Amino acid sequence: MSVAVVLERRAGSWSRMSFETLAAGQKIAQELSVPVYAAIAGGDASAASSEVTSYAVDKVYSIEHQLLAQYTADGFTAAFEQFIKSASPEIVLFPHTYQVRDFAPKLAARFGKALISDVVSLRVDNGRPVFTRQLFQGKLNADVTAGNEGPVFASVQAGAFRGAEPSGGSAVIENFSVSLDAARIRSRPGDLFRESQRSVDLSNAELIVSVGRGIKEKENLPVVEELAQALGAELAASRPICDNGWLPMERQVGSSGQTVSPKAYFAIGISGAIQHLVGMKGAKTIVAINKDENAPIFEVADYGIVGDLFEVVPALVEEIKKAKS
Ligand SMILES: Cc1cc2nc3c(=O)[nH]c(=O)nc-3n(C[C@H](O)[C@H](O)[C@H](O)COP(=O)(O)OP(=O)(O)OC[C@H]3O[C@@H](n4cnc5c(N)ncnc54)[C@H](O)[C@@H]3O)c2cc1C
Repeated sequence: MSVAVVLERRAGSWSRMSFETLAAGQKIAQELSVPVYAAIAGGDASAASSEVTSYAVDKVYSIEHQLLAQYTADGFTAAFEQFIKSASPEIVLFPHTYQVRDFAPKLAARFGKALISDVVSLRVDNGRPVFTRQLFQGKLNADVTAGNEGPVFASVQAGAFRGAEPSGGSAVIENFSVSLDAARIRSRPGDLFRESQRSVDLSNAELIVSVGRGIKEKENLPVVEELAQALGAELAASRPICDNGWLPMERQVGSSGQTVSPKAYFAIGISGAIQHLVGMKGAKTIVAINKDENAPIFEVADYGIVGDLFEVVPALVEEIKKAKS
């Protein structure tokens, strides 16, 4: 029995989530007392593999092929299918990236399995791996187990684990050769998507006031803007606010927005979905204002105010102004 962790690179750089997934793999392998392997596919896999040997893994599999130099679902599925059939891991973990979402369900289907996607934690129960997924925007946690026969395929949500760090190990690299046929790769990759330059850099902000759907409508934004102004803070938001066009996309914090680590982060009317938390839980101090005492944001908050933001925020602004005058 073993655990294989698929690490992802994009345009020659590691996906940060690869090492978070590696940490998840190390944890479950340790609980099961089985080896953990890293697997890397690409056109430069062997060079990339040598960067992983210092992590606490039992082996690094390098799956190098010129047809893997650019990602295609057909190429990656065929390569990992051959690798999994040969190495026979019981558990295969992926970072829950856009690329993985594209090919991993198809790969799992090749083995007659489903992908247990977007896992936020995992553990061993009665000798079997149990994967936790969030439902209804984080309101429910579902424990998922797979059938008795391996392999089990699961993808790990961004920010669910702290990224693994090198541990001074010296794992061996095993080159795994795959046989790929260019004629069976049906898509032709185009240029990589490049994000446009951001004019707001929240990553350097010391104070952030962030607003969520609790603000109810765009016309109410001045309530939080006043707080940001009084504190000298940058204004940020959860995704629904930016999706609605109430604030520009570049002010979105979270897995598909910016990652911030200010001295203080005020989360106002934000429930605390995992996709938001991954972008801000590195803040030194988190202050949450929410009328629902069970909102998940309070689990990461240093200071929590259970109350109506339309009452709490103006009162806070008044006190700040008094303190400053
Ligand atoms: C692939 C993917 C990527 C995503 N990326 C991101 C991302 O980058 N960033 C992000 O933020 N989300 C992201 N999301 C969305 C995420 O799952 C949540 O839906 C989102 O974070 C919820 O935003 P919210 O907390 O503002 O809204 P809600 O979850 O609706 O929460 C609103 C909160 O306001 C509170 N509230 C309501 N009225 C008041 C009041 N008067 N006073 C005080 N509190 C009040 C409620 O109790 C509630 O907790 C992503 C989702 C997916 C699937």
